[in-house]
Amino acid sequence: MATPLTAEQMLTKLTAEGLTVHEYPGWKTHNRDDETGKAFGPVVGVLIHHTAGRNDKDLCYRGRTGLPGPLSHAWLGKTAGLWLLGNGRANHAGLVDLDVVNALRAEVSPLPKDDQANTDGNDCLYGLEIENLGDGQDPYPVEQYRRAVLWAAALCRAHGWSERSVAGHKEVQPGKIDPSFDMDVFRADVRAQLAKGPTVVVTAPKPTPSRPRVDLSRLVAAARKDPGAAQGHVTYMAGTNLVEAALVKEGLLGRRYAGDGSFGSLTRDAYAKWQRRLGYSGSAADGIPGMTSLKKLGAKHGFDVVA
Ligand SMILES: [Zn+2]
Repeated sequence: MATPLTAEQMLTKLTAEGLTVHEYPGWKTHNRDDETGKAFGPVVGVLIHHTAGRNDKDLCYRGRTGLPGPLSHAWLGKTAGLWLLGNGRANHAGLVDLDVVNALRAEVSPLPKDDQANTDGNDCLYGLEIENLGDGQDPYPVEQYRRAVLWAAALCRAHGWSERSVAGHKEVQPGKIDPSFDMDVFRADVRAQLAKGPTVVVTAPKPTPSRPRVDLSRLVAAARKDPGAAQGHVTYMAGTNLVEAALVKEGLLGRRYAGDGSFGSLTRDAYAKWQRRLGYSGSAADGIPGMTSLKKLGAKHGFDVVA
């Protein structure tokens, strides 16, 4: 029993295990928890699948008619590497055998036979879809297989589980045949990986480039208040300075009027010129920033806008 990893923990643990992780846009909030009213977790193990197809990363993210995505937490391409598709509840396991789930939870080996489909495996199992035709002929490139082992080992290590918390879909749901490789061999490889320790020293998470943000409502308050207040009145220093610097670069505001953090009347005039340049007129070009005009200014000069 364990609390599912957060998205950030997932990234940290997989990376620490030696995986290069690709992030599908939106994966951190892509799940089925709200739609089903059933939260993901506690988790008891990891489940391995093959996709029985090709180029099905998008399909596994989106899902298909009658089975909305994500169809797994991660997708492992034949050559495209490991991609995170979802965080939370995913539609990968379906109804599975409760005896097997209990055995995974207790780390009993060997697993009992899966002869019933009587509990929801999506409640408690992480899922990995491996891109493979699943016809028993299609080979798993060694790099792909290695990544599958690392993925399973990373999650086991994160939760303090052994390889006995790992199962194939074919071992938990009657009638399933995936994955098309021997799960005892796979578990032995996970066990060996767990004994070795993470292959990469844990380092600080990679910094992501961040852009400054301007809060529109605070900027509007400044543009309304500062011109009529005492000379140099400051309502919103950081945002005003970013906007003034952009207006200077646009040639709409003299450099010496920028940078004091006050959205004074000259700044308002300059902003009105920016609005007219975008095609606004009349009261739409009154120098009070609007979302569209501010976003366009930010896009050109390196800041984001929040409402
Ligand atoms: Zn499956």
